[in-house]
Amino acid sequence: MQEKVYTGIMASPGIVIGRAYLLDRRKVVVAGQRIEEISVKDEVARFKRAIALSKGQLEDLKKRFTKGLGKSHLYILDTHIMLLEDKMLVDGTVKRVKESHLNAEGALKETIEAISLKFDTIEDEYLRERKHDVEQVGERVLRNLVGHKQESLADIKGEAVIIAHDLAPSDTLMMRKDKILGFATDAGSRTSHTAILARSLGIPAAVGLENITSAVKTGDVVILDGIHGVVIVDPDEETFLDYLKKQRRYKYFEQELENIKDLPAETLDGKLILLEGNIELPEEVASVADHGGSGIGLYRTEFLFMNRLTLPTEEEHYAAYRQVAERAAPQEVVVRTFDLGGDKIAVSTGFEKESNPALGLRAIRFSLKQQDIFRVQLRGILRASAHGNIKILYPMISGLHELYATKTILAEVKAELRAEGRAFNEQMQVGVMIEIPSAALIADLLAAEVDFFSVGTNDLIQYTLAIDRLNEHVAYMYEPLDPAVLRLLQMVSDAARKANIPLAMCGEMAGDPLYAAILIGMGFTVLSMNVASIPWVKKIIRSVRMQDALELASLVLAQPTAERSRQAAVQFMDERFPELAAEL
Ligand code: PEP
Ligand code: MG
Repeated sequence: MQEKVYTGIMASPGIVIGRAYLLDRRKVVVAGQRIEEISVKDEVARFKRAIALSKGQLEDLKKRFTKGLGKSHLYILDTHIMLLEDKMLVDGTVKRVKESHLNAEGALKETIEAISLKFDTIEDEYLRERKHDVEQVGERVLRNLVGHKQESLADIKGEAVIIAHDLAPSDTLMMRKDKILGFATDAGSRTSHTAILARSLGIPAAVGLENITSAVKTGDVVILDGIHGVVIVDPDEETFLDYLKKQRRYKYFEQELENIKDLPAETLDGKLILLEGNIELPEEVASVADHGGSGIGLYRTEFLFMNRLTLPTEEEHYAAYRQVAERAAPQEVVVRTFDLGGDKIAVSTGFEKESNPALGLRAIRFSLKQQDIFRVQLRGILRASAHGNIKILYPMISGLHELYATKTILAEVKAELRAEGRAFNEQMQVGVMIEIPSAALIADLLAAEVDFFSVGTNDLIQYTLAIDRLNEHVAYMYEPLDPAVLRLLQMVSDAARKANIPLAMCGEMAGDPLYAAILIGMGFTVLSMNVASIPWVKKIIRSVRMQDALELASLVLAQPTAERSRQAAVQFMDERFPELAAEL
C-alpha cells in the first residue's frame, strides 16, 4: 500500500505513531418544519428542556474534571455554559419559533447560522474562531433535541490516534493521555479552543487537514506529526523508521524542556531575561505560569469588544483587568489599550469600511478620535491597577503628538477618579508599542517620555517592508531578519539603553527560538510570546553566554541581506543546538 501524506496546521507539537480511530462527529441532520400556532408553547418548552439538559451535561463534565485538571482549562466549559444563557442564541431561537412558526430544531439552526454570519465578518483569527464555540454548543443542543446520543471518547478501547471532522473542547478535556495518543481533524485552526487546549494539555494534534476523515479508516496505521501539522497514512518502512527516530529525539528534547520549565531564564553568565506570555482572555493567565513564564507582557484587550453588539461597560473593563492582575500578581500585567480597526472590527463602534485599513483609523488613532470609548477603558485599567502590578501600553504610536494627547487624557481620567475617591495606582507605568517605523526613528524622543518600550514586530515588519501582514501573496517577503528591520530594532535598543528604560518585544518574533540569542544580544531584556514558545526560548537563553549573543547580534546586523542574516543565525543554532535545530 502506498503511503499518503496530508498536511494541515500544527495545533499542538509532538510525534505519535499508532492506529487510527475514526470518531463519528457528523453533524446532526435536522429538518426545519413549520408548526401550528397551537404547538408553539410546547415547542418552546421542548427547546428550553434541551438547553437545560445540555447545561446539565456540561456542568457534569465540569465536576468530573475539576479535580484531575488544572482549573485553568475549565473556563472553556464555562464559555459553553455561558453560551447556553446567551440572549442571541436562546431568545433568538424562541423568537423564531414564535414568529416564524418553526420547530425548535429549525429555529435553532437558523439562529446559529445568523450568529455565525456575524462572526464571519471579523478578520481577527482568534475571535473569528469563537464562532466554533457557538456551533459546538448548538450541535449539543440539537443532539439533545433529537435524542441523538453522541459517540464518546470513553468508548474507545486501547491506544488510538483520533481522527474526526471536528472536536469540541469538551472532547479534548475528556482525552486520557494514556489512551489518546493525539488527534487530527478536518476542521479547526491554531487558535481554536480545541487547539489551545491540546497545547496546554500536551496532546499532539494537527487540525485543518480538510479531508483526513475520508482518507482514514479505523485501524489504519498513522503517523501524526504535530510539529508540522502532518498526518501520514499507511507509512512505508523507511518513513516509519525515520519517524521513530524523530519521535525519540523529540521526547528526549521535551523532557529537557520540562526539566528547565521552572528555572529562571538566565544566560550561562547570569543575565536574567524576563519571559512573559501574550494573552487575550483572563482565563489564559494560568497557562503562562504553567509554561514557565513570569507575567503577562501583552494583554490584548480587543476581545472585550468583540462578539457583541454593545460596547463594554467600565465595570466589564475593570472586572477583566482586575481578574488578570490578581491572578498574575505579584508579576506584571501589561494591558494594551484596544487596537481596534485594521483587521479587528467591533460592530459596536460603528466602524466604516476603509480601503487601506492597516493605514487607517486604527489603534491609538481610533482611541483619540473616539475618546468616550477610550476614557471608559482607561478608567477600568486605572481602577484595576489598585489590585496588582498593572502597566499600560499604547498601540501604534507614530509620534510625540499622540503620546502627549494620551498623557493629557490619562491625567484627566486620573483627576476624575481622585475626585470620586476611587483607588488606583498613581505611579502606574506607561509604555508605548514601537510598531511603526516613525516611532523607531524617533525612539530617543519617545524614550524620554515613557517608562518602557515594547516592540511589536508583527506591525513593524509590515510597515517597514510595506507588506500586508494578512496577504498570503506577499507572505514570502515577511522577513524579521531584513537589514532594515534589524537596523530599526537596534535604533530602538540604543534609545532605550541611553534613557535607561526596559526594552521588551511582544511581536511573534520574540517567540521564535531562532531569534532568541540575537534579540538578547541586541539588548532586549523582556520577551513576551505565545505560551507554547516559552520553554523553547528559555532553553536557548539558558544555554548561551551574553558574549556569544552579542557577537551573533553584530554578525547578523552586519549582513547585507536577510538571507545572509538567516544563514548566520541558522549556523549558530546548528553549532550550539543541533538537537533543537532539527525541530525547528
Ligand atoms: C505587533 O504588532 O507585533 C503586536 C504585538 O500587536 P498585534 O499583533 O496585536 O498587532
Ligand atoms: Mg500591532
